[in-house]
Amino acid sequence: MPGAKASVLETFNAPLALREFSLPTQFEPGAALVRTEMAGICGTDVHLWKGQLPITLPVILGHETVGCIEQLGEGLERDWMGQPLKPGDRVTWTSSTSCGQCYYCVEKGQPTRCPQRRAYGIGYRCDQPPHLLGGYAEFHYLQPRTNIFKIASDLPTEAVIGAGCALITAIHGVERICGESGPALTPGRERGGMPLLPSPWRDYVVVQGAGPVGIAALAVAKNAGAGQVIVIGGPKHRLELARQFGADGTIDIEALREPAARLDAVRQLTRGFGADAVIECVGHPEAVTEGMEMCRDGGKFLVLGHYCDAGTVSFNPHVVTRKQLQIFGSWSSEPRHLKAALEFLRGTQRQFPFDTMVTHRFPLERAHEALTATASWQSAKSVIVPRS
Ligand SMILES: [Zn+2]
Ligand SMILES: [Zn+2]
Repeated sequence: MPGAKASVLETFNAPLALREFSLPTQFEPGAALVRTEMAGICGTDVHLWKGQLPITLPVILGHETVGCIEQLGEGLERDWMGQPLKPGDRVTWTSSTSCGQCYYCVEKGQPTRCPQRRAYGIGYRCDQPPHLLGGYAEFHYLQPRTNIFKIASDLPTEAVIGAGCALITAIHGVERICGESGPALTPGRERGGMPLLPSPWRDYVVVQGAGPVGIAALAVAKNAGAGQVIVIGGPKHRLELARQFGADGTIDIEALREPAARLDAVRQLTRGFGADAVIECVGHPEAVTEGMEMCRDGGKFLVLGHYCDAGTVSFNPHVVTRKQLQIFGSWSSEPRHLKAALEFLRGTQRQFPFDTMVTHRFPLERAHEALTATASWQSAKSVIVPRS
């Protein structure tokens, strides 16, 4: 029986191990087997590797993956969009699937908080069949009900992986702050399939953090019609990337080391009032207190960078009352956000060249180097190409 090589997290903080697993012989109806073309390394993978999220090992990491369909299970004929699927099609998929039946899925419209959700590359042990439930492997098994999306031929794999889960996360987050009181992020079909907002959103937006989520939040906010987007972060090459992606202003945290100085800089760039919306994409608790001060009165603050529990921070609730702040949280993403991301990437390839973010490629055997390159910020985006 043919096998599939995979890079496995067996012990936290130890090098990933190359293992071989048997391919599934019996297919569940609705399942699929995909040959991995490219797997992205996400910052979350570094946290997982360090043991900072509660997972059970061994795990094949990788929740940003593109591959070609090798085999389709009985009854799986169409992707999430209703397009026909056949072997050889290039696809991607949501890392988690909600049950669609519970209190949060049906009654409260919060499917990302469905208790049944488990993410590929995070929540599945690989020592039990069907083993291949993560991206760092030659093959990926897609369980029944996985939200599969066929990738249009004019959209490069590098763009999908370069944007990765950061873009989907940012689309969901920006949708929440646009929400009911502002325009919703409804993908339209005008202007070459670009997701468009029904009306312009002329606000000042501050993005805290110039990592993948920060850059993606900048792109989504610009595309959503934000008037001015100011990115705070570092190092310098990250801020340069932010300018390439259309940042109207950047604030270098290495030059302005004190929160008060950064707050001053934001006020200067926002007519003295502060930003209409601040999007936190940093992941350090201190950024949250700093960011709330950067909001104008009655402004919106989105905590987007705390997928991992980075600990607590003391803050003065008076700020929330006095400023009449609206505070938002956003967890993971829904299938429609992946749909919007793929349309966004297709429609904005020139404006937001996410494909150029794939800077470091590694074969499966060197998956651990890919992970450490991400951990040390050597790369814009490291990827694994199993058949390189
Ligand atoms: Zn991720
Ligand atoms: Zn559910």
